[in-house]
Amino acid sequence: MLYETVKMINHSLNFAGSDLNALAEKYGCPLYIMDENTIRRNCRAYREALKACPCPDSSAVYASKACSFGEIYKIIAEEGLGADVVSPGEIYTAYKAGFPMENAYFQGNNKTDGDIAFAIEHGVGYFVCDNFEELDALDKIAGKYGIRQKILLRVTPGIDPHTYDKVATGKVDSKFGIAIETGQALEAAKIALSKPNLELLGFHCHVGSMVFDSDVFKSASAVMLGFIAEVKNTCGFEAKILDLGGGYGVKYYEGQGDIDIPANIRELTEHIASLCKDLGISVPSLRLEPGRSIVADAGVTLYEVGSVKKITGYKNYVSVDGGMTDNPRYALYGSKYTVLCANKETGSDTITADLVGRCCESGDIIQPGCVFPSDIGRGDRVAVLTTGAYNYSMASNYNRIPRPATVMIKDGADRLVVKRESLDDLIQNDVM
Ligand SMILES: *Cc1c(COP(=O)(O)O)cnc(C)c1O
Repeated sequence: MLYETVKMINHSLNFAGSDLNALAEKYGCPLYIMDENTIRRNCRAYREALKACPCPDSSAVYASKACSFGEIYKIIAEEGLGADVVSPGEIYTAYKAGFPMENAYFQGNNKTDGDIAFAIEHGVGYFVCDNFEELDALDKIAGKYGIRQKILLRVTPGIDPHTYDKVATGKVDSKFGIAIETGQALEAAKIALSKPNLELLGFHCHVGSMVFDSDVFKSASAVMLGFIAEVKNTCGFEAKILDLGGGYGVKYYEGQGDIDIPANIRELTEHIASLCKDLGISVPSLRLEPGRSIVADAGVTLYEVGSVKKITGYKNYVSVDGGMTDNPRYALYGSKYTVLCANKETGSDTITADLVGRCCESGDIIQPGCVFPSDIGRGDRVAVLTTGAYNYSMASNYNRIPRPATVMIKDGADRLVVKRESLDDLIQNDVM
């Protein structure tokens, strides 16, 4: 199996000590299942590695766009991580969950005046400023509230993380951040330093996602530290915080590469410390913003099969009661997943089929080319592993399909943390 937390016990798939078929009986399908112990273990791996590293007071900030609901913010807060938020919706969810908002970092390339005021009113600790207009708007609005807002400035180091273009964001021509290469980032730093209501603490970058190559963060940190030295030499301002964003990869299928994150953090931070020495700057406090690597392997999605279509001489389809509405990642990025029949052993007698959803869209494919027991049929269950990140948070109501419930499991116990949407939830905003 992909993870040791996933195993067949008496012909029933078990995840982190819970019987998935028993959960399906109790809560219905489709169902998101998340394991609290895995989330906490992933948080601790970052926390401990950053605590032991040579960059003082370093910490991890959970990128909550990966999976955002009340209970997640509570777990993250208990584990001592900060939270990236990108919208009033995420701010409101974190705030309502009792998240310590001074540890929230407001990200995004277009924060409206309304968003800025909302974030200030809810005590968001840091703004990660993305552009010149935001610096002006934030300075004005912070002034109205009589505060001096802590900020980081998002810059682009010009690193191509050798990953999928759609999720590559650290390049010079990105819609995010201000380019170092063109001199505009230096100009923005000067402007930020001149604003009376902004307190510039350091610089941020995010090179991309699904990074398995440890050199990506090393190259990014070299460019960023060079920039920090340049700002120090030209403006006399020395950054206290270096935020390298998120992006560590996660294993979705057998045979895919893996990365030892704590070992990578050790290597990276030693590299940072030695570069700082060469550049004559103090070692900054480091922030890392993991999203996927905190929650992805903590999640499994469980579906019930409705039909098996065998198109003789062509191909086979297994249709389930969810689809691109609860997991759009194959439709968006062609993402690979590990798919398992949850209530029957997959022995030697198998069929290969595309696992498809129930939406009116031919691209509604969860995963092509899956191997199932040859007698799979209506009423059987299928589990898709590693769906904790960018599934619930990217879910939609296309075809007026309600979003599934989320159940949190811990040591064999289960609790509902997000209710299944009802039909009345779907029409609650319709004026009729
Ligand atoms: C998406 C994003 C992250 C998290 O990326 P993962 O690949 O989920 O770790 C962190 N920081 C920023 C700014 C992001 O946009």
